[in-house]
Amino acid sequence: EAITVQELANRMAARGGEVVKALFRMGVMATLTQSIDADTAELVVQEFGHRVKRVSESDVEIGLEGAEDTDTDLQPRPPVVTIMGHVDHGKTSLLDALRKTDVAAHEAGGITQHIGAYQITVPDGSKVTFIDTPGHEAFTAMRARGASVTDMVVLVVAADDGVMPQTIEAIRHAKAAGVPLIVAVNKIDKPGVKPERVKQELLQHEIVVESLGGDTQEIEVSATQRINLDKLLEAISLQAEVLDLKANPNRAAEGTVIESKLDRGRGPVATVLVQKGTLRQGDIVVAGAEWGRVRAMLDDKGRQLKDAPPSLPVEILGLSGVPAAGDNFIAVENEARAREVSEFRQRRARDKAAAAAGAGRGNLTDMLARIQAGEQKEVAVVVKADVQGSAEAIGVTLGKLGNDEVKVRVLHSAVGQITESDIQLAKASDAVIVAFNVRATSQARDLAAKEGVDIRYYSIIYEVADDIEKLYKGKLAPVQ
Ligand code: GDP
Repeated sequence: EAITVQELANRMAARGGEVVKALFRMGVMATLTQSIDADTAELVVQEFGHRVKRVSESDVEIGLEGAEDTDTDLQPRPPVVTIMGHVDHGKTSLLDALRKTDVAAHEAGGITQHIGAYQITVPDGSKVTFIDTPGHEAFTAMRARGASVTDMVVLVVAADDGVMPQTIEAIRHAKAAGVPLIVAVNKIDKPGVKPERVKQELLQHEIVVESLGGDTQEIEVSATQRINLDKLLEAISLQAEVLDLKANPNRAAEGTVIESKLDRGRGPVATVLVQKGTLRQGDIVVAGAEWGRVRAMLDDKGRQLKDAPPSLPVEILGLSGVPAAGDNFIAVENEARAREVSEFRQRRARDKAAAAAGAGRGNLTDMLARIQAGEQKEVAVVVKADVQGSAEAIGVTLGKLGNDEVKVRVLHSAVGQITESDIQLAKASDAVIVAFNVRATSQARDLAAKEGVDIRYYSIIYEVADDIEKLYKGKLAPVQ
C-alpha cells in the first residue's frame, strides 16, 4: 500500500512541490520519488480538497473519483435540503407541512412511509428532496463520516422565541460545511410576534437577510397554518438555481446512506440518497462495508421503483448487513468486485480501530487509576480534527458528558495536525488528546512519548464519545 509523492501529485494534477510542502506540514518528510503509505496519501488528497476513493487493493490504491463527468454529461438535479433550528421552533411541523404540498402525491397511490428523506414535486414540476431527520446532529454525524448530502439548510426560527442556542449551533454547522442558508421565520400566525426582532438577532451572527440588505433569503411562514409554504419553496428553487446543481445520471450509481435498520421481515434495509448516476433494481452495490444485490427499491410513497436518478432517496433491500448513516455506497460491475471493495473497507476499519487501540498508553492508565480511586474529578480533553464541523461536533458532544463525580472539560478544540504546543497544553493540564482524522507531527509524537501524553486517534464521532465516557466512568479497558 504505497504511492510515490510524484504519482500522487500527478493524480491530483497538483505540483509535486505543493504535495511535498503539504506532507511537511503534516510532519512527514518525503521527496518526490519516495513512497508514502495509503493513509498519509489519503490525508494529503483531502487536504487538496479532493474526495478520496480507494477502490480496491488490487486496483488503484488511491484514485480520485472514477472518471470525471464532463459538462455535457451533467444534467440538472433536484436540491437536497436539511431543516435545522432550535428545539420546538417547528422543524418537524414544517417537514410535515412541506410534504403535504407534494402535487404528485395523489397520483402515487402508495402509502407515505418515513424512510429518512422524501422528495416532493412543486407546482412548476420541479422536485425538492428533504432530509427527514431534523436537527444538526444527523447533519454533523454525516459530515464527520465524510459525507456531504445537503445542498442548503432551511433555518427555522420561531418568531415568538427568536434566536436560541441551537439556532446559533445550526448557523455554525452550516457555515462550517459551506452550505447556504434560507431563514424560515416560523409561527407568524401567533398574535403579537415580531419577526423583525429575529432579523436583528440574526445580524449578530453574521446572517444578513435580504430585507436588511444582505443576501440570505428569509420567508415568514407558519407551518401549522400553512402560510407562505409556496414562498419558501420558491426560495429553495431560487437558491438551487444559484447553486446550479447538476449530476450525471448516466453512470454507475454512487451516494450516501441516510438511514438504516434491520427489519424483521425484510432483513437489512437502508435508505440511500443517490448523488450520481442511476441506481437500478438488480444492481450490485457496496454500502459501507456491506454489499448485496438490490432486490427491491422503494420510494417514500412506498412505490416499487426500477430505477432511481440523482437526488432521489430510496429504500433498498438486499444488503448483507446494516451499513451506517453517512456511509458511502457505490454500484459495482459484479459480485467479485463487490466482495473486494467490501473486504478492503473492512480491513481499513480494522486497521483504524487497531491504530486507535494502540495509541493510548502511558498516563492514561494512571488517570484511570486516579478516577477509580476517586482522586481525579475531571477529564480534560484537547480536540484536533480535520475540519471545523468535526472539531465543533466533538467539542459539543464531549462538553455534554460527565457525571456527578467526574466532569469532562474540553480545553481546546481546533482544526489541524497535532503540534508540540498541543502536547504542551495537554501535558500542562493532564489532558488526553483526541485526534479526529488528523495526525501528529513527528516532533509532536516524540514529545508526547517523552512526556507521556496520550493521543487517541479516531475517525468516528460516537467512538470518541464512547471512549471518553468509559474514561470518566473509570472503565476504559487498559490498552495492551
Ligand atoms: P421541532 O422541535 O423544531 O421539530 O418543533 P415541532 O415541529 O415539534 O413544533 C413544536 C411546537 O410548535 C408544536 O406544538 C407545534 O404544533 C408548534 N408549531 C410549529 N409550527 C407552528 C406554527 O407555525 N404556528 C404555531 N402557532 N405553532 C407551531
